[in-house]
This record gives sequence, structure tokens and C-alpha cells, in this order.
Amino acid sequence: MARDIALGILYSGQLETQLIKSSKKIGGIKTIVLTNDKNGPAQHFCDEFIFADLSDKKVIENFVKKIDLCTYAFENLSYEILNIINDTKTVLPSPKTLKIAQNRILEKNFANELGIKTVNWQRIKSLDDLKEGIKLYGNCIMKSVSGGYDGKQQYRFKTINDIDSKIDFKKDYILEKFLKFKQEISVAATRYKDGKISIYEPTENVHENGILRHSKIPANISKKIFNEAQKITIKFAEKLDYVGTLNLEFMIDEKDNLFFNEYANRCHNGFWHSVNSYKICQFENHVRAVCGLEYLSNKKISNAEMFNILGKEILNFREKKFKQNEFFFDYLKTEARSGRKMGHITILKK
Ligand code: ADP
Ligand code: MG
Repeated sequence: MARDIALGILYSGQLETQLIKSSKKIGGIKTIVLTNDKNGPAQHFCDEFIFADLSDKKVIENFVKKIDLCTYAFENLSYEILNIINDTKTVLPSPKTLKIAQNRILEKNFANELGIKTVNWQRIKSLDDLKEGIKLYGNCIMKSVSGGYDGKQQYRFKTINDIDSKIDFKKDYILEKFLKFKQEISVAATRYKDGKISIYEPTENVHENGILRHSKIPANISKKIFNEAQKITIKFAEKLDYVGTLNLEFMIDEKDNLFFNEYANRCHNGFWHSVNSYKICQFENHVRAVCGLEYLSNKKISNAEMFNILGKEILNFREKKFKQNEFFFDYLKTEARSGRKMGHITILKK
């Protein structure tokens, strides 16, 4: 089909790169990336790469003129800048939904108000709040309200003696009861402008030090959890009036209770296997939805496992030969810092 869409994409990491690859696959979509990262790997794939200071009004004006609409896959974007773009050209997912995902208090309140269960949590503004919270919860975890990812800006406590004197209480935090979970899962869904939703089956995720290491479908979960997680994800997308792909993360305890943890207002690392395991992956579905293309029915084509490649591990993978059912993704990052997501491998399974 002949199309001619100029899709603006903010930021330039691996998820943005995959959005560009999906746009190419769909066809008729010109991708224009605006980023403050001059090494951003998306530059190797997009049609136009603009490296500039996003807080410069002229930069945004120029970007807006070039695009028909704008999307993103990065959570720490400025809400204000997205709103400025949105005044002239549509930004999807809406800046309003990003604002909720950027703030753990808004996010947990949003879930709790919909009757979605989370672990017990409370706001922490001071050392005294923290001491009280630790006494109440015992084993617990404190997270910065904004800006944390891959387990960063998180603190674990069992007693008040674990409090680190370096904690900066000028920042806002929440304290959560630590859940001895048996498993973690996530669910991706893509919602179209007309309200149609394409839902994926739950992926089972394993984190190490707060960083995703391994994902697989099928998840080893009960039918009850499978259905509940999908139902909550659909409810979330509908109540947010969301357009595009979102991902919800959950924990499951020994008694088979499901707890919502957080949601990604974007495509998510845990569903990257969908590029190979589904007819339409989360990225292609996202681009189709934000660009207002027609909804297509989707289906799983294979079971799959995905392993994230961190830091210098990438060097071995770059030398390796792969089997037919193995798909290696190199994010082409220049610096292999310890713990940094550098790539992944998806293995399709029977
Ligand atoms: P991030 O934004 O860094 O992904 P998360 O809230 O998802 O933050 O935390 C990262 C990981 O830490 C989770 O996937 C989970 O493995 C662990 N974790 C987070 N909160 C809790 C909790 N309340 N109890 C037990 N483990 C937790
Ligand atoms: Mg998380």
C-alpha cells in the first residue's frame, strides 16, 4: 500500500532502532530521529538523524516541521518537551500516560484505584518516614519515585541499621514491602485508536540485580494467572486511553497471587522475542497503532527464550556462529560498560 508518513522518534537507543526496523518492514514510513546522544545506534537505521539539544526551542520547531507525528520508546523524556511537540503534531503514546509511568506514586495509585493489587507501599519523604516504614514492613525496598531503571536508585532494608547515610532525601521515594516472589511475568499489549487491542501471552522474566536477564514464552504459570494478567493489561490500556504498545510487569507469590509492579509506557525489552515468536511483534504493532494503520490479527508462531547480553559479554557473541533458530541482536553500542544492555539472543523453541 502506498503510504507516506514522516514518523518522528525521540531518542536513539536499541528500542528506537527496532521501531525503525519495523517501520521499514511496514513500508512507506520515513523515520526521523531526534536525540541528544551522538552515538545513538538508531543513526545506522533511520532516514534522518538529528543530534541536538532537545531543550533548544529552535531544535524542536525544526523537528516538528519535518514530521507528521512523533513517538518514543524511552521513559526519561521530558514531559514538557513532549507536550510542546504535541501542541502541533500528535505525540503517541500520549504525554499524559508517560507522566504516570514516570512517577511511581501516580503509577501505583492509578493501579490501586482500578482495584489492581500491588505490594503494600508508602511514600517516603524523610529519614523518619523511612525508619517508620522499615519498622512496619521489615524486609523492604525503597525506590526513587522518578528516574530509576534496571534496578537503579533502589535500596534494600531489613532493619533500620541498613540505612545508608548517603541517601539523598531531597529526592522523593516510595517504600515497598519486599515480596518473596516465585516468578515474574510481563504482558505486552498494543491498543489502536479505534480501541482494538492486540494482546500477547505473558512472558516469564528473570532479573539479576534488578536487570532483566532472561525471558521466555510460554511462562510456567497457571491459567488463572495467565488470564488475570492479560485482563489487567487490557484494563490498564483502556483506562489510560492508550495508543501504541505498553507492557505491564507483575510478580507472583507462592500462593499464586498476582501483584502489579510497574508498567512501561512503551515497547519493552522482555517482549523483544516477539520479533521472532509472533507474526506481528510489539514494535511493528506499535508503529501500526501510532500511525493509525489498520489493526491486523496476530498470532504466536513459536515458543521462545531470550537472553540479554550485558557489558563485555557482547565481545564473545560478536565472534560466535549461530544456529538457524538463534537470532542475535547487537545494539551496536560503542561502550561496553559493566551491566549495560549490549544485545540479546532469541532462541526459538518447539
Ligand atoms: P525498574 O524500574 O528498575 O525496572 P522495578 O520496580 O521493576 O524497577 O524493580 C526491578 C526488579 O527488582 C523487579 O523486576 C524485581 O525483580 C525486583 N523488585 C522490585 N520491587 C520488588 C518488591 N517489592 N519485592 C521483591 N522484588 C522486587
Ligand atoms: Mg521493572
